[in-house]
Amino acid sequence: MVAQPLAEFNLIARLCRRLPHGRRTLLGAGDDCAVMAPSRFPQLFTIDSMVEEVHFRLEWTSPEALGARALTVNLSDIAAMGGRPLAAVVNLAIREGLEQRFFDRLYRGLGRAARAAGVDIVGGNITRAERLEITIALLGDAPHGAMRRDRARVGDGIYVTGTLGDAALGLRVLRGEAQAPPAARRYLVGRFHAPTARLGAGQKLTRLRPCPAAIDVSDGLWQDLGHILERSGVGAEIVAEALPLSPAYRAVAGADITLACRGGDDYELLFCMPPRFGEKALARRLGVPVARIGTIVRGRRARLTGGGRHRRESFAGWDQLRNLST
Ligand SMILES: [Mg+2]
Repeated sequence: MVAQPLAEFNLIARLCRRLPHGRRTLLGAGDDCAVMAPSRFPQLFTIDSMVEEVHFRLEWTSPEALGARALTVNLSDIAAMGGRPLAAVVNLAIREGLEQRFFDRLYRGLGRAARAAGVDIVGGNITRAERLEITIALLGDAPHGAMRRDRARVGDGIYVTGTLGDAALGLRVLRGEAQAPPAARRYLVGRFHAPTARLGAGQKLTRLRPCPAAIDVSDGLWQDLGHILERSGVGAEIVAEALPLSPAYRAVAGADITLACRGGDDYELLFCMPPRFGEKALARRLGVPVARIGTIVRGRRARLTGGGRHRRESFAGWDQLRNLST
């Protein structure tokens, strides 16, 4: 094909031009590599992709929100380790039918989220594909050490920030599978489109001793808790009534905790630590709402108790392919 609607070389230069850099970026986009000043702390390095029809649909979201979200899902992984995000490189897989203006708006959202988090976008690559895909590799560091998944101990309390299940319920609302009053709809859909990475809370958590075990809730409480249990060689008892549900969640789903347990995309932090701090003291310290949802126990299984039911749960979580495909 000779005529392409977008000149790829020009596109990337144009997209990167407006992104400002901090002092630690010695050379930004435009050369073969970016050049970064070294950090004196342990470095964190992560990558995540957002794929059209798997993680998003363009008719549901603005390009700005999509760009911001693509970075936020990576920021959340840095938050889960208690780190500071520093710099990112972006790979755009672009398909036919998208115009320059779309990418300008995508990068406006991405740039805004990057500035808010103190991240420099230091390079990029563009390739052609069947579906739009945004892949971001994010570099960070851990001035106070990194929180890990393999540090949960028997007797630890299990805590989460914020509320659970909102994003998954927002996705159901977008797909027309759940009805919500206007205010609840706005809130739930907003939680899906514009999640917040808990960077500040993660950095404060990692200063506590002993350092908590932590993970971000990206694939659903059950699946992400499962990663902690597996890596730490422990079990968990979760109390159904203790799961933090937002008023909007309750307005739509009532007391049904299915999505709070299994729905993904909330990007809250799940952490395990000795229960000597109460929920309120932790919330004050971290600057975000905190709920204790259970206890780490011996064994390798998680048990959900409450509502008169006792049942063993397996760790089947959130199947992105199944949930977004038609
Ligand atoms: Mg993660």
